[in-house]
Amino acid sequence: MERILLCLAHMSGKEQDFIKEAFDTNWVVPMGPNVTGFEHDLEEFVNRREGKEALDKKVVCLSAGTAAVHLALIACGVGAGDEVLVQSFTFCASSHPITYLGATPVFIDSEKDSWNMDPELLEEAIKDRIAKTGRKPKAIIPVALYGMPYQIDKIMEIARRYEIPVIEDGAEGFGSNFNGQALGTFGEYGVLSFNGNKMITTSGGGALICPDTDKAREILWYATQARESYPYYQHEAIGYNYRMSNICAGIGRGQMTIVDEHIAHHRHVQALYEELLKDVEGIEMHCNPGAEYDSNFWLCTATLDPSLRIKGQENAYKQVITGAVGGAAGVTHAACTAVTDCQPNDNVEALRMALDAANIESRPLWKPMHKQPVYRNAPAYVNGVSEELFATGICLPAGPWVTDDHVRYIVDKIKESIQ
Ligand SMILES: *Cc1c(COP(=O)(O)O)cnc(C)c1O
Repeated sequence: MERILLCLAHMSGKEQDFIKEAFDTNWVVPMGPNVTGFEHDLEEFVNRREGKEALDKKVVCLSAGTAAVHLALIACGVGAGDEVLVQSFTFCASSHPITYLGATPVFIDSEKDSWNMDPELLEEAIKDRIAKTGRKPKAIIPVALYGMPYQIDKIMEIARRYEIPVIEDGAEGFGSNFNGQALGTFGEYGVLSFNGNKMITTSGGGALICPDTDKAREILWYATQARESYPYYQHEAIGYNYRMSNICAGIGRGQMTIVDEHIAHHRHVQALYEELLKDVEGIEMHCNPGAEYDSNFWLCTATLDPSLRIKGQENAYKQVITGAVGGAAGVTHAACTAVTDCQPNDNVEALRMALDAANIESRPLWKPMHKQPVYRNAPAYVNGVSEELFATGICLPAGPWVTDDHVRYIVDKIKESIQ
């Protein structure tokens, strides 16, 4: 059997038609009809609401989700010396752009229900930062981890009360809803990613959901080197080369023809895992924690009780790993130790190895940013939740390539691995 991957891009077949059109009409540049068309498709998708009038948000396509975070921070006025509150339990692209700007990330731990930003800790952090620095943090970045919406109503209420803009990191949450409204449309800005392993792909790319046309134009201006209107290149601000290419946008337009099917399939795979694992003691699937939540289940995730014994767990972490998780593109530095002071439990690593031997890709959850050596000096407001989830959690394959038979095979292998 071919290897079952965590989440692999799936083409509709229409992508090549849009790309061919770009070549035929000589739009092989970072603008053009595919970019405009893709933005239009995305606007239609994120603005629709269940039983309510559609929203009127604008979308700007960019070269990456990371670029979208970066430009949203700039638009919120973040600069050197500022602080930004960001969910600690996330992929590094939520927080790295804060440091690009010379600002400081202040990490906020998670709550147990959605695994995302804890509203109580958020408010505690806001008060404490004001007391300690005399200034308000400039923005709040909650994340929809693995697609699961965060406690949007509570976080937005706090943000409104303290008048701090919210940048929603919906990079993993494209197609997720909260009370029938698309993730990424609740805050001032919403980040989307179309990297190769996300809900839809443009091979690499991202977008920023903006509140109105003026804000969208400002983002577009920064994304195209911030030029003034003179007959020559005149610059009064620092800009970036972050626009999406018309070729990549062609892939995106093709993907939008099957996005609803893809999302439905992710949810179907999740439901099957939930059904097949419900009687397995010591393993718990991460499910929608309430009726308001409607995750896209970008990846299906589970936690292992620390007392669950997995065959071979006494051999976990005996070898230094070469390479990196996630089939990371580019290079990784060679690890000099087999262990760090914060890592998944031995039973989780043993299950990962057992699944790997059965040709199934799995992966630990994101390692909290406040435990990353590079952020050792950043302030953090913690409650132990993300560290415990990191110690006990695992990501299982999801997405359009994963069939019902695959899920049954994966669950069988999980059961076989239990001692
Ligand atoms: C993927 C991801 C991003 C960034 O997206 P890229 O398109 O890869 O730059 C940002 N935040 C989170 C939580 C992500 O998973």
